[in-house]
Amino acid sequence: MISSDIRSLIQKYDIPCPRYTSYPTVPYWKDTPSNIDWEDSVRQAFDRSYSKGISLYIHLPYCEKLCTYCGCNKRITANHAVEKPYIDTLLKEWQLYHTLFGRQPIVSEIHLGGGTPTFFSASHLQYLIENILSTSYIPSHPEFSLEVHPNYTKKEQLQTLYHLGFCRLSVGVQDFDEKVQYIINRPQTFEQTKRVFEDARQIGYTAINADIIYGLPLQTADSIRMTIDRVQKLRPERIAFYSYAHVPWKSPAQRRYTEADLPQSDQKRALYELGRELLLQAGYHEIGMDHFALPVDELYKAHQKGTLHRNFMGYTTQSTELLVGLGASSISDTWTAFAQNSKEVEDYMHEVEQGRLPISKGHMLTDEDLAVRKHILNLMCKHNTSWIEETPPYMKDALIRLKVLEEDGLVELNSHHIQVTQTGKLFIRNIAMHLDEHYWQSQSTQQVFSKSI
Ligand code: SF4
Repeated sequence: MISSDIRSLIQKYDIPCPRYTSYPTVPYWKDTPSNIDWEDSVRQAFDRSYSKGISLYIHLPYCEKLCTYCGCNKRITANHAVEKPYIDTLLKEWQLYHTLFGRQPIVSEIHLGGGTPTFFSASHLQYLIENILSTSYIPSHPEFSLEVHPNYTKKEQLQTLYHLGFCRLSVGVQDFDEKVQYIINRPQTFEQTKRVFEDARQIGYTAINADIIYGLPLQTADSIRMTIDRVQKLRPERIAFYSYAHVPWKSPAQRRYTEADLPQSDQKRALYELGRELLLQAGYHEIGMDHFALPVDELYKAHQKGTLHRNFMGYTTQSTELLVGLGASSISDTWTAFAQNSKEVEDYMHEVEQGRLPISKGHMLTDEDLAVRKHILNLMCKHNTSWIEETPPYMKDALIRLKVLEEDGLVELNSHHIQVTQTGKLFIRNIAMHLDEHYWQSQSTQQVFSKSI
């Protein structure tokens, strides 16, 4: 049950708002690096943080069936002949980065995302990962993980990747209610999902994450109750409880349903509150935004130690300074610059075939961007941020803007510190947005974001 105070805050703050997996956020990138500038930035980040190792995000964009709610960059096909040429291109792109590094990298983290990574056969996944590992040093406890859709995951694929060092799995659940599954075009039984959990546990995977989404079309309190009850029986170490992002102008398949099918803002928030309560009762702890973990989980431990980090892959325990994104639409991050690969598979493959890094857009961060980036990261990971030097001009502006949020009980402010309150944690995206200079200077592009609740 949501109190009337919270309900009025929801009405006030449920506005389009970035998710802050990067700062500046993608719509405000303006200073795209040339290929030469980007290569310099990669080399510098690689040398600066060599011993920490690098993170690799590999985008595998193919899916057999379209889930209508999906906002990912994906390509729907049943033609598996696409696998080998795509993997060959990924390896060529990796080789381009490897040449830039000038020496063998330490790969601390690999994440296979998509699309559906398990669209690819076990032998193709093996070919991809073996080639990368054979040209890298691997630390004693690497973080290798992959996303899976239970309907398209075979035990053999999990086994193959486990032998290559993968021990983390992220299982897409979303909702077990059949009427929700029908409208999002994602029929997925509890038994299929349970089988993947059992296979993974039996093989030796030690950390499993389940993704659940609240705010989906036709979703009710009963759907959330049933979904969380079933998921918590599987005991994933982590649960990501994401807010559905309604952006039909970017993801036209979302037009299969209308706004009227979606829980409205206070109903949506009530679904989150219900889910949160059920997860806490089941022994999970809230971590950062939309994430819950059991005390045995590394993310929980990092949260307790204050070492939680956030990047394009979401919350992570690794804070490498160089994230290399391979594949169509992948984003790379050198801490001082971002670059995104071409989104269309054909454009991406063409560029790599020509021996060029397939960058389509990016941003070189200014000193002010870097400072704000750090503060937003602190707020998202630790719910507070401080500065010791004289308050810089961008922060003076932010503090003025944040006054209203202080009056609403979302933050506590003093001249060198911002503290998010318990109520404020529900509105963390809104709070971060008040530090976002690009947002406030570009009123015309604010509507590109999904709503904050
Ligand atoms: S939700 Fe996953 S499986 Fe479904 S279309 Fe999107 S990327 Fe593919």
